[in-house]
Amino acid sequence: MALIVQKYGGTSVGSVERIKNVAKRVAKWRAAGHDVVVVVSAMSGETNRLMGLAKEIQPIPDPRELDQVASTGEQVTIGLAAMALQAIGQKAKSYTGAQVRILTDNAYGKARIISIDEERIRRDLKDGNVVIVAGFQGVDETGATTTLGRGGSDTTGVALAAALKADECQIYTDVDGVYTTDPRIVPEARRLHTVTFEEMLEMASLGSKVLQIRSVEFAGKYKVRLRVLSSLTDPMIPVEEEFASGTLITFEEDPTMAMEKAVISGVAFARDEAKITVHDVPDRPGIAYAILGPIADAKIDVDVIVQNVGHDGMTDLSFTVGRADYAKAMKILKDRVQPHIKCRDVTGDDKIAKVSLVGLGMRSHVGIASQMFRTLAEEGINIQMITTSEIKISVVLDEKYMELAVRVLHKAFELDQA
Ligand code: ASP
Ligand code: MG
Repeated sequence: MALIVQKYGGTSVGSVERIKNVAKRVAKWRAAGHDVVVVVSAMSGETNRLMGLAKEIQPIPDPRELDQVASTGEQVTIGLAAMALQAIGQKAKSYTGAQVRILTDNAYGKARIISIDEERIRRDLKDGNVVIVAGFQGVDETGATTTLGRGGSDTTGVALAAALKADECQIYTDVDGVYTTDPRIVPEARRLHTVTFEEMLEMASLGSKVLQIRSVEFAGKYKVRLRVLSSLTDPMIPVEEEFASGTLITFEEDPTMAMEKAVISGVAFARDEAKITVHDVPDRPGIAYAILGPIADAKIDVDVIVQNVGHDGMTDLSFTVGRADYAKAMKILKDRVQPHIKCRDVTGDDKIAKVSLVGLGMRSHVGIASQMFRTLAEEGINIQMITTSEIKISVVLDEKYMELAVRVLHKAFELDQA
């Protein structure tokens, strides 16, 4: 008998029919003898609709009141889900974030969880209830409702699992797991049975949208076993079968992990990037700061940064930013930085993409980078920038070669083979 936290996203509760299916699935787990805490998102599209209403009244809505409005979608689905369970004979009780007392800081729209009072949840579970908690929301010290950022119900699920020391946190969604790469680009992409949370974190920040990044960080910090699985299967499939489905995101030391020894777990990619080069800047202390400081002050995220060795007292510095920030970054550099540091030129390219290999096995295998570069060279793909971490190698390349690069790398590293 396990304690399980199940999170159902917006599509999974997108209609009354789907909510009834969620109830059937949850009741099945309960009938198998498990304690179940359920976290739900708002019905799909609802949070956008609510935020739209706010903007019709205040173009830049007051953050406190926006959270008050945006959090209500989840209050509807928790009540409906509890009723759906009761309707099929399963005791259930729902709570908003404030009612549980999911205490957060007061950073409206992106609040962080400080503590969770699990007393009441435990008592209700003991009484035979399924407990349903609204995702995405909490309450600050003053009693104001807060929200955790878009996609934040994942974080509620993981945080509750951590607080309750649940055996597993199951994230039900409209895909059936985490894939070696996007199956829309590589039809041979395979579902991973397991992936470590470090790899998942890289994949999430490199563009895979399966989980909110913050929830993966949380799972890593509090050692929560996470499983991503489909809510679109028959809700009555046997519990044992469901327990083995999807993708388990876990830790290296987990015995389940030892089964899989692939060096590389996936190929991630991000379109929508742009590259900027500052040419012939004086090679002396303070220059990187003079260039990137104003960019950071404008709240523009910088990703890959490359500075070459100096020549004749000069050097070039290149970096990437999100494509949406490209024009703004170029303007800052041309108007403010160039006159100040007296570089020769600032040039840019907003048609680039980033392709990354991710795998824990890189730590113990040599030659991964050279195999990656050879594979790209054989296709005549030019690499513009390279960056690595312990478990990732990313290259920046011309956007028009991105899909080709993903395909050839996926094949070269035999990710299509189980
Ligand atoms: N309903 C919220 C959103 O749309 C939270 C979530 O779905 O996780 O962002
Ligand atoms: Mg989501």
